Amino acid sequence: MPRLRRARPAAIHPPPPDADAAICVIASGSGGNCSALVVGRGADRRVILLDAGLSPRATWKAFDALGLGVSRLSAILLTHLDHDHWRPSWRKGAPRHVPVHMHKRHVRRAERQNTLPRHTSPFDDEIALPGGVRARAWLGAHDDLGVAAFRIELPSGASLGYATDLGSPTPHLVDLLRGVDTLAIESNYCPHLQLASSRPEFLKERIMGGRGHLSNEQAARTIREIAPRSNVVLLHLSRECNTPELAAAAHASAPYALTLSNQYEPTPWVRIEASGVRVSEPRPFQPLLFANV
Ligand SMILES: [Zn+2]
Repeated sequence: MPRLRRARPAAIHPPPPDADAAICVIASGSGGNCSALVVGRGADRRVILLDAGLSPRATWKAFDALGLGVSRLSAILLTHLDHDHWRPSWRKGAPRHVPVHMHKRHVRRAERQNTLPRHTSPFDDEIALPGGVRARAWLGAHDDLGVAAFRIELPSGASLGYATDLGSPTPHLVDLLRGVDTLAIESNYCPHLQLASSRPEFLKERIMGGRGHLSNEQAARTIREIAPRSNVVLLHLSRECNTPELAAAAHASAPYALTLSNQYEPTPWVRIEASGVRVSEPRPFQPLLFANV
């Protein structure tokens, strides 16, 4: 099993200046999910938030720590509207010029729960984002309205897959994300810890029943099918029913660098680069979990 390296405050720093694109998972877990995708260099650098499950205040604090100017925020892209992915305080807290992209199926719910932001941009399957970034979305089964997973194509030719709260992996999801350069995907629970937990049965059933979350094994199997080219970031680890060690163990001899997110600290920046490596050619295993800065 690879040696685990955790993010420490000293590891929190601005994105590498020479990276055309990089992602930092600011926080991930049932307490709030939020990732910063930076695209472009220097004065042209923009930030796209993937989910906004921390309050605006906590997000700006993280921006400060990460050396990201709030004025660089160009768009917010939402997987779904659960509280840990879309905080109600963003309805008024999103800067006026920043569009919030949400799936068209989610718009009515946002209206009903009074969290529809003033600048909403509904999407179906194609999304045009600032800076020449394009995304394709696929709606998977999660609770009643579904969750969007994204394949994000960057101007450099590199690609990022982003998928969380998946319910169950499907061939559609694998097709959408196949061969991305960097893949961020949930690895929520260990089934043994889930079953042994004191959670009520209905909750266990909701999580494990195909419309909740992926287990570590389901995530690892899905990742093998997707065959990301260089980096995998694990999202949404359950604090009660998972451990970083168990989540990482499912990737012991994997041909990609592995980064684990957590609820309390941002991950180091993970570069998103076109690797030029064909999916069928495994790369040598990089034993560091945080190997990208
Ligand atoms: Zn969630």
